[in-house]
Amino acid sequence: MGDGVGTICGNCEHVSEYLLGVGMLYSSIDRVAHLLPKGAQRLIADIRSKQEITQVDYAHKLYECPSCDTTHPRFYLSFRYGENQMFQPDYRCGDCWGPLRVAQKDIFSYRCRKCGARQLRREFEICPWD
Ligand SMILES: [Zn+2]
Ligand SMILES: [Zn+2]
Repeated sequence: MGDGVGTICGNCEHVSEYLLGVGMLYSSIDRVAHLLPKGAQRLIADIRSKQEITQVDYAHKLYECPSCDTTHPRFYLSFRYGENQMFQPDYRCGDCWGPLRVAQKDIFSYRCRKCGARQLRREFEICPWD
């Protein structure tokens, strides 16, 4: 199941919509690999050609850029391989190129990506998808 959430900036009215969570259409890692950056796809193919992967976890998640204080939707994927090594794709902020991490705050407490104001509020409910 996934959830949609939309934010609107109280200052510039910039709208962002996010679909978060795991959709039913993704039943295996092969179905989700194309959602990852090309470099990560190559890395995964390489790992899987040599080793067993376990504990696969994935979902559409909200990431945050700690330096811009903005949110960025990305496809999260992690799994274990080898001697307890953990794989996760590296994502970067499209604005400042800083590393992104999984968002830790309420979506409405970040800055607007367009004008930088901290005035995000809920836009409207989007129907659950999958
Ligand atoms: Zn704004
Ligand atoms: Zn940034």
